[in-house]
Amino acid sequence: MPQFGFSISKPRAINLDTNDQVPAERLLQEVPELKTCIACGGCTATCTAGNLTDFNFRKMHTLVRRGEYREVYEQMDKCMLCGKCRLVCPRGINTRAVVIKIKRVLGDY
Ligand code: SF4
Ligand code: SF4
Repeated sequence: MPQFGFSISKPRAINLDTNDQVPAERLLQEVPELKTCIACGGCTATCTAGNLTDFNFRKMHTLVRRGEYREVYEQMDKCMLCGKCRLVCPRGINTRAVVIKIKRVLGDY
């Protein structure tokens, strides 16, 4: 098979009807501007923790919104609450608050 310098990601189905959306809805109630996220990845690209670890903030808040919470709570401990992600978000989302709220809604979960 020819090599093109990239690989195609495996398909992954997400069943939004069976995933528990309660924590995701609570997060969006507390930080409604997160609905305007365009998944640009600016937060992840600038993330201090992401430069030092495998932490991927865009992936984490996207997983929560999809109702997939496995490992997210533990991953969020890597955030240093430096606030750099908030400075670059093109939607002006208070991403630092998103970190805190994710911890809160998943801590009760
Ligand atoms: S920088 Fe803002 S718009 Fe872009 S992925 Fe992060 S939260 Fe979403
Ligand atoms: S506040 Fe957390 S998620 Fe945002 S840039 Fe800093 S370490 Fe990364």
